[in-house]
Amino acid sequence: MLDQQRVERFKNMVLADPENELGYFSLGRTYVDGAAFKEAVPVLLQAIKLNPGLSQGYVLLALAQRGVGDTEGAVNTLTQGYKVAQEKGDLMPRNQMADMLKDMGAEVPAEKVAQLTPELAAAGNIQCRRCGRVTAKMAERPFGGALGEQIYQSVCHGCFQAWIRQGTKVINELRLNLTEPAAEEIYDQHMKQFLGLDETR
Ligand SMILES: [Zn+2]
Repeated sequence: MLDQQRVERFKNMVLADPENELGYFSLGRTYVDGAAFKEAVPVLLQAIKLNPGLSQGYVLLALAQRGVGDTEGAVNTLTQGYKVAQEKGDLMPRNQMADMLKDMGAEVPAEKVAQLTPELAAAGNIQCRRCGRVTAKMAERPFGGALGEQIYQSVCHGCFQAWIRQGTKVINELRLNLTEPAAEEIYDQHMKQFLGLDETR
């Protein structure tokens, strides 16, 4: 079902600030989540136009295009998005786009992924969920709780630093007041998605 409250929230945001890529992205995601694919397509095209490096934007746009029956458009979007994600080291959206291309019977560029051997794991290395690199763990857990532990066990230092910068942008552009549970939920959703911890999207 379409979350009308979120639609209004993000619509107002992009009306007030037409350069707000995360506003467009979030509006597009809300439409896709609510199966409003026709509405989602132009909004996501605008998000990608504002930031062509927005890997996750290509995933959503392809879902929306597939939703309106534009298979050819979806394949083009995924092929382009795959390259963007590959270059940026966004492993999760990259893999997701590869799966979608396979589902649609389209060609997927072959790529080698680093392997975390038992020896490397025993020596305290992890394979980062976001960029796929096999690397040492962060010096310490980024914060407490289960999510902090999960990040410590599966995200590299560089990717977590990248999230800190992106998280600031999320808070500012989406004007999140983290004392509100709804805002915290949006923030966590962005973090999990950015770090590759969210399997569903
Ligand atoms: Zn990483």
